[in-house]
Parts: sequence; structure tokens; C-alpha cells
Amino acid sequence: MNKTTSIHFSKASRVISGGVNSPVRAWKSVGSSPLFVDRARGSKIYDVDGRAYIDYVLSWGPMILGHAHPKVIAAIRAAVKEGTSFGAPTRPETSMAEVIASAFPSIERLRMTSSGTEAAMTAIRLARGYTGRKLIAKFDGCYHGHSDSVLIKAGSGPTTLGIPGSPGVPEDIARLTLSLPYNDLDALEKTIRRYGSKLAAIIVEPVAGNMGVVSPQKEFLEKLRTLTAKNGIVLIFDEVITGFRFAFGGYQNLIGIKPDLTCLGKIIGGGLPVGAVGGSKKIMERLAPTGDVYQAGTLSGNPVAMIAGLTTLNLLQAKKQSFASLDKKTGQLCRAMEEMFFKKGIPVCINRVFSMFTVFFQEGPVVNLQTALQSDTKMFARFFHGMLKNGIWLAPSQYEAGFLSFAHTENDLQKTLEACTKTLRNL
Ligand SMILES: *Cc1c(COP(=O)(O)O)cnc(C)c1O
Repeated sequence: MNKTTSIHFSKASRVISGGVNSPVRAWKSVGSSPLFVDRARGSKIYDVDGRAYIDYVLSWGPMILGHAHPKVIAAIRAAVKEGTSFGAPTRPETSMAEVIASAFPSIERLRMTSSGTEAAMTAIRLARGYTGRKLIAKFDGCYHGHSDSVLIKAGSGPTTLGIPGSPGVPEDIARLTLSLPYNDLDALEKTIRRYGSKLAAIIVEPVAGNMGVVSPQKEFLEKLRTLTAKNGIVLIFDEVITGFRFAFGGYQNLIGIKPDLTCLGKIIGGGLPVGAVGGSKKIMERLAPTGDVYQAGTLSGNPVAMIAGLTTLNLLQAKKQSFASLDKKTGQLCRAMEEMFFKKGIPVCINRVFSMFTVFFQEGPVVNLQTALQSDTKMFARFFHGMLKNGIWLAPSQYEAGFLSFAHTENDLQKTLEACTKTLRNL
């Protein structure tokens, strides 16, 4: 680890809890201090020593256009000049809602929040208010932000750090959340048979990205839709990562399933703090002020965030066709890496869904949290550091997704594969 980084990190650690404002940024699971970042542009991110890396984290998903897209930055600059927060309705909020509703057939009404956490928290409260039921179900390894109800066997940071639940979440609340294995039809059927009439909601990442990438078996999501509908349970798709990542809309569009509520975030904020919850008029109108379920936010629908998000979505809409190229590039990269590992005799299972991927250090298949946890995390850590040394910035945990952006070029992919060759030499 280089010296500058440790200086910055120890300075940060004296005033910031753990030196970071979100746990996975601390690089604990790969056994080092995190690099500090100065700036990023396109597919590249630059540390404080001016070294460039090809970035596959992309702020954990949002930067699908690449960092600092000139049009997004110009729009933000123009918006900032007019003031940064008003606490009153603005026109861009309506435009944002219109764009999202037009892209998601399941969304008739929308509410903006400042984070994905708030979106999921609101969706769950709304489902409880709407159904008058208390229990909710989620899936092991799925992450829905850090609110009390969903911090049970959550993926991402909690899995990386080996935290199954969290002290501070009262048992009385934890007891109301059932967590089931992902992709497990039997467990799902049994749970619904037993608790169907008591469940307010089932929340799911339609493509799991927070235990590493795990794709849903088609029957799993179909069964989930059928059974929830039959039992009056609100089905919540958490598309905070997947919204606008694979197509202009959600994963739900691609599989033709309409959830009752959808959570969004990340990409729709264009790199600014944003989340949203949307769904049918009937459910969404239960939110205050039309309804009695309370939800609010001083900075919700923030004008600068709306402009950043809207500009991003407009650029994505113009690129509709090129989502296929993003898919193709990611496929190319993953297949080439797979071959390198194979030749070297290191077992890996690369899970990929369009432009999201995870290299699991194990034979696989990885279909849920239990199988994901079989990975060799020590080997992952060595791979991570090898790639970093060779100019490739990967997520600092086995249990996270890698992302490609529209800014990643063939040349970037080539460099990444060269870095991988060098890294494998010493693995
Ligand atoms: C990132 C994420 C969240 C939380 O969003 P924040 O903006 O970090 O609060 C929720 N759900 C999923 C699936 C996520 O990946």
C-alpha cells in the first residue's frame, strides 16, 4: 500500500467513524486501507497521487454513462446557478416522474427520495399500511438499504463484514422479517402457505447484485408474482441497481413481470443522491398527502439531482439501441477472463447478467447466498490487489457486482485483460 493513502486514511479515521462514510469503502475484506480519489472521467478514476485506474465500480452502479459526462456536468452547472434547494415543487420533478413512468409500465405514480434506502423503507411502510399486515419477506443476500426491517441477512457490506443482522435493530422488528434463500421455489411456497395471509410484502432484487451477481431463475420470479398476487401480498422489485442498467426501463420490462411497487436509485440520480418508489395509483395514493401513510424528505426531488438524473436518462433514451453493445462488451470481457482462469487452473464461476458481473473464486454454480459464501475470499483479495496494481479498480469485496459503462472502450477491455494476465502470473 502506498504511503499517501495511509496518511489520508489515518487522518480520516481520526474524525470519521472507520475513516469512511459507507462501510464497504474501507476495503477491510481485502486487508488494506482504501485509496483516496481525486477525480474521475469516463471509464477512469484517479487516486490522490494522480494514478489512473479503469473503473469497474462506477460509484457502485450509478455512472452508466461514465464519470463526469460533459452533458450531465453542464446541466448540473446550469441548474446550480438557479439555487440548490427550494423545499417547493419544481418542474424537473414532474419531468423526472414522467420519464420514469413512461419507461416502467408498472409505475403510475412515483415519489422521489434522496437514497435507495429511503425508497425501500417507504415501499415497505406503504405495503404495511396498504395491506394492514405486519410481516415482510426478503431473500438472503439481497440488500435493500440499511433500514431496520431489511437489515436481516442482507448482502453487500453486511455479508462482506460477516454481519448477519445488526445490533440496534430491535428483535421485535427483526422478528417481522422472514429471510428466504434466493431462487428456492420450495422455501417460497412453504413460507407463503404458512404466512401468506400475514405477509404485507415480499421484496426482492430481480437480479441479485449484493451477494455478487446472481441471476434469478425465471420460474422463481414468475412464481413470486403468481403467489403474491393470489395472497394479496405486495410484490416489491428493488431495481435500485437494475433500473436503466440493462435497457431503458427495468429488468421487469425484459421479463414481462409487473411488480406492485418498484424501488429505484443509483442510475436515475446520474451520480447525485437519489431514490424513488413507484407503483400503481391505487397503492401509491395511500402516501400522504393523498393518503395516510407518512413519508417525506427535505431534499427529496432536489432540483440539482433531478437535472443530473433527467439528463442521464435522456442520454440513455437516445442510446436505447446501444444497451446491446454494453451487454456484448461485458460478455467479451467475462469470457476472455474465464478462459485465462481456466488455462491457469484456478476455479472461478463468473456470473454475468448484461453489464453486471462477479468473478466468484470457486467452481460454482452460484445461485444463492449459501453457494456464494463458498468462495475463496483470500484468493479474491489477492486478485483484487493484483488488478489494482495493474491499473484496474474492482469492487473491494467478493460479494459485490462489477459494472461496465458506455465509456468503457475496446482499449479499456484490452488493458483489463492484460492486467488480468499479469495478475494471474502471480496468483
Ligand atoms: C444500493 C442499493 C440500495 C440502497 O441505496 P442507497 O442509495 O445506498 O441507500 C438498495 N437496494 C439495492 C438493490 C441497492 O443495490
